[in-house]
Amino acid sequence: MPAVKSVLVVGAGVAGTAAAILLADAGVSVDLIEQKPEVGTLGSGITLQGNALRVLRQLGVWPQIEEHGYGFTTLGLRAPDPHGTLIVEMPDARTGGPDLPATVGMPRPDLARILVNRAEEAGASIRFGLALVELRTQSEADGVTAVFSDSTSKHYDLVIGADGLHSTVRDLIGIDVKPQTTGMAIWRVFTPRPQSITRTDLYYGGPSYIAGYCPTGENSLYAYIVEEAKAANFALTGPERVAEMRALSEAYHGPWDDIRPYITDDRGVNYTFFETHIVDGAWNRGPVVIIGDAAHSCPPTLAQGAAQSLEDAAVLAELLLAGDVLDETLWREFSARRLARASEIVRASVQLGQWLVEHDQTADVPGLMGGVAQLVSVPA
Ligand SMILES: Cc1cc2nc3c(=O)[nH]c(=O)nc-3n(C[C@H](O)[C@H](O)[C@H](O)COP(=O)(O)OP(=O)(O)OC[C@H]3O[C@@H](n4cnc5c(N)ncnc54)[C@H](O)[C@@H]3O)c2cc1C
Repeated sequence: MPAVKSVLVVGAGVAGTAAAILLADAGVSVDLIEQKPEVGTLGSGITLQGNALRVLRQLGVWPQIEEHGYGFTTLGLRAPDPHGTLIVEMPDARTGGPDLPATVGMPRPDLARILVNRAEEAGASIRFGLALVELRTQSEADGVTAVFSDSTSKHYDLVIGADGLHSTVRDLIGIDVKPQTTGMAIWRVFTPRPQSITRTDLYYGGPSYIAGYCPTGENSLYAYIVEEAKAANFALTGPERVAEMRALSEAYHGPWDDIRPYITDDRGVNYTFFETHIVDGAWNRGPVVIIGDAAHSCPPTLAQGAAQSLEDAAVLAELLLAGDVLDETLWREFSARRLARASEIVRASVQLGQWLVEHDQTADVPGLMGGVAQLVSVPA
């Protein structure tokens, strides 16, 4: 018998939908709520590394991911010179196993739609446009009562806060850790895919810290430029954002010359600061737990945020379904399986960014990336 019969999952991002799918598939009664009015139709692309693909396959959505995404198994490094010279093309680690690509790029709205549809099919009851506002617990054994934005309330054995970076659940259970900016920011644009681009290439250095791109389908890709964080950029108008990203991209050549003409529509250009945090201790308080970006976040220098969120959901569901009772032993095991691994990914992601900010010539980037690949190749 699972350790819980009824679960509320707060947030229909990757972490929340994954937890909902695995628990509902096993017969647990799952309510999944999402404050947004519907599945997003706008958004950039996402890089899914092998360890994310391994969990997506466990969720039963690999055929759809394969169909809607763009898989590749090599990574290119290019110079920020007038030709965008290819320095090396190397095999990328297949961290999900030999039968999955190293990486799949895909549009974020497609990933969100696939996961929400699958959660519905598993039997989760999903409500959009509904937020969690309050939690009431009497004793751990009694479960928890959730109060919603429509003033209704319901009692559950467990609440999973998968409500992202600025988590309400984290605040409600008194975990006082907040994401901090790292000093870097990223420009992203979603464009048609030039035929010249069939994998991710990274350009380190030049006037910005990193420039790169990731194909997300036959006809789409996202491209990005990472630079020093500047608060003034948030005040730029749409056309000014387009002009700024185009200007930054002028330093990068080779395939970037094929992307630049597509940077025209300000709706496709997005600017975000890098943030990071880790809840360094138990992620639960009694029958309420946080997972995904609510518990940890990393700058996307290693593209591991969603992968770690999926792993959290898979490990939590496995323990809840295997255990008879929701007790300290279960929470200790959850911590033992997740905290050190997620902390190491956060540390390595921040370190990679820091080396770039400090222009550290002695930085062992291949060593760091190899270490992370080795770590995440072992299932969580
Ligand atoms: C610029 C950038 C690029 C990135 N690129 C990558 C990448 O290439 N690969 C990768 O693996 N990771 C990447 N990441 C990280 C990745 O996006 C996140 O780690 C991942 O999306 C976290 O998923 P989540 O489900 O925990 O949270 P979210 O995706 O943030 O989902 C949380 C959901 O909860 C909802 N919610 C919040 N509060 C409430 C409430 N009170 N009631 C109801 N609903 C609520 C929100 O509306 C939201 O839909 C990137 C991050 C950034 C910032």
